[in-house]
Amino acid sequence: MAKIPINIKKGTVQKTSSEIIIGIDLGTTNSLVAYVREGNPVAVRGQKGKHTLVPSIVHFNADNEVLVGDAAKAKLIADPANTIYSVKRLMGKSYADIKDKHQYFGYQILDDDTESLVKIRVKDKYYTPISLSAEILKELKNRIEEELDAPVSKAVITVPAYFNDAQRQATRDAGKLAGLDVLRIINEPTAASLAYGLGQQGSQTIAVYDLGGGTFDISILRIEDGIFEVLSTHGDTFLGGDDFDKAILDYWLEKNGIDPINKDNTSNQGLRLKAEQAKKWLSQNDNFQESEQDYVFSLSKNKFEELIRPLVEKTLDACRLALKDAKLEQKDLDHIVMVGGSTRVPLVKRAVSDFFGKPVFDQLDPDEVVALGAAIQADVLAGNQKDVLLLDITPLSLGIETMGGLMDTIIPRNSKVPTKVGRQYTTSIDGQKNLKIAVYQGERDLVEHNRKLGEFILRNIPPMPAGIPKIEVHFIINADGILKVRAKELRSGLEQTIDIKPTYGISEEDMARMLLDSIQHAAEDMNTRALLEARNEAKYLLLSADKFLSQNAGILSETEKATTLSLAKNLKAMAAEADKDAINKAIQELNEFTAPLAHRSMDKTILEAMKGKKV
Ligand code: ADP
Ligand code: MG
Repeated sequence: MAKIPINIKKGTVQKTSSEIIIGIDLGTTNSLVAYVREGNPVAVRGQKGKHTLVPSIVHFNADNEVLVGDAAKAKLIADPANTIYSVKRLMGKSYADIKDKHQYFGYQILDDDTESLVKIRVKDKYYTPISLSAEILKELKNRIEEELDAPVSKAVITVPAYFNDAQRQATRDAGKLAGLDVLRIINEPTAASLAYGLGQQGSQTIAVYDLGGGTFDISILRIEDGIFEVLSTHGDTFLGGDDFDKAILDYWLEKNGIDPINKDNTSNQGLRLKAEQAKKWLSQNDNFQESEQDYVFSLSKNKFEELIRPLVEKTLDACRLALKDAKLEQKDLDHIVMVGGSTRVPLVKRAVSDFFGKPVFDQLDPDEVVALGAAIQADVLAGNQKDVLLLDITPLSLGIETMGGLMDTIIPRNSKVPTKVGRQYTTSIDGQKNLKIAVYQGERDLVEHNRKLGEFILRNIPPMPAGIPKIEVHFIINADGILKVRAKELRSGLEQTIDIKPTYGISEEDMARMLLDSIQHAAEDMNTRALLEARNEAKYLLLSADKFLSQNAGILSETEKATTLSLAKNLKAMAAEADKDAINKAIQELNEFTAPLAHRSMDKTILEAMKGKKV
């Protein structure tokens, strides 16, 4: 055979090393931007400010101008209704998701439709968490453009490892709205590990302990040949440095005999800031003392540690659970990475180090470490570093609804992403034209107990007998953890795809509850599943028995017909009851009786075909 010369034109490689892609840590309390300068990641300081942190706060002033960061934080006490903080907590969430925590927010969250994404009301305008996050991102973009004196347009943004599709998508949308092309969404613990250069030296298992202002996350990662895999995550979305401040505030109020009814008064907000100041002071000193009017606000380091010890213990409980989920023990971990401003508290460092039985990684600034890691990943994407692959896991199983309301899991919980999984389905009715693909997330056997993420209908399937169409459903999760579902009828080539952008997200608490439910109801679910499967089979068999009788009347004796009918009648009756064994028995009886008849019919068909007759 003659060789055919292959003539593929090689594309010219674009030199990208001059292009700067930025890394952004979009935090609940503080955000910051970093980039790689001459091979080293650096966090960007504001022109006027000396600090790299931009408080994640947006304020709308009387002229409806937008202030972001320190300027907005300064308005928090005087004008709380127009000052939005912690907007990250609302990303990808519906009112139903957050209504229990409603009082936590000092601004107005719209309570209209419980299913759709929340909106925030400021004066007479409504804002989405996406557009408010975009304001923070714009501020960061401005910061770095000022520093570099050049426009930037590409970014890597970090999110907590437990963020679901909706939350990741919302973060991506916020980036877009801020004029950024978001190349990747990466997990905060992964970014922190990258900043510590973990990933270069063979395989390692590490824990990333992240205690910020209002949230705590513990993640256990395995790094192998530059591939990061999240083994487990745990945490508390309402636990952080703010709670340390609150503990100090409460202590001072009590000690000074200040009426606790006034506790949440704005006048106490000033005292809350003083509490934070004391906390930070005590990270390096043994005593804090300040007097104001007739009061003395003092706090020793010992007293502070006593106040926050229960909170620190709570974080260790979560660490225990994360280890358990990853099926690991303390000794299996190679490194512990400390992230978040609150890990500056000496007690936190000590407790974590004692818990894991080794010194912790705390050499990098815990406020900056996530952004620095994001900048490294950005630099990798810019083509300036050897590629580092990032792997993630799905926190909950993903699947579709099949007959009888059963959940058919396509991507099991804790699967690595990016991933693509396909499975074939068919129709259950002759000539069925439409097939509904309903996508669910969760661990229970019945979809009604899981969370619906979306649905679509594959329309205009060419008419075919039941069971003939081959419908392939693909679940594709990309590197950002965003799910795409595609259904294709293989015989006709008919195809339809949706991007799953769930209308509302899922909190970590919900996730924990869903997992717990699935364990508690496992036995019950198994029985229900067995019953539904038996019923489905009965339904199929009854349909085909019916079809068989009408198509083969000529070759069946009256007794054969009568017996088939009576067995079918019995099966129908059994299927209406809740005894799966009885249904299976009736299925077997009908099957056993009709099998030889079906063979006879088939033989006859073949015989007729051989005689040249039309089948
Ligand atoms: P987030 O990731 O939630 O945006 P950060 O990692 O920026 O939060 O952490 C902010 C928290 O860190 C605040 O509660 C702040 O008071 C606390 N913090 C910052 N510096 C110190 C310090 N020196 N000592 C104790 N806590 C600190
Ligand atoms: Mg953080």
